[in-house]
Amino acid sequence: MAPGERRRRALDRGLFLADRVSRVASATWLVPSQSDPSGVHAVALIDGYLLCDCFAALAGHPCAHKAAVALTLLAGPVQDAGAPDGRGEPDVQQSA
Ligand SMILES: [Zn+2]
Repeated sequence: MAPGERRRRALDRGLFLADRVSRVASATWLVPSQSDPSGVHAVALIDGYLLCDCFAALAGHPCAHKAAVALTLLAGPVQDAGAPDGRGEPDVQQSA
């Protein structure tokens, strides 16, 4: 598989997995395995790099698990819909 194609597929699958990522420590996440329905892969953020324990990552290739965690980090913390939110959304006034 060409490196560009491998990367594109990792990003595609990462998007699919992003809402199934679970944070288990401050810098460690578990992402469901796609090849093994009962398995998970551990992704850790170490020195600014995401590291995964799957075969692709260990071989130095992009993997969907790291992509999924990166997307989760970009999306920010999960909002607790049930908790009262004193901060609320910023009240943006259109002044045009
Ligand atoms: Zn992986």
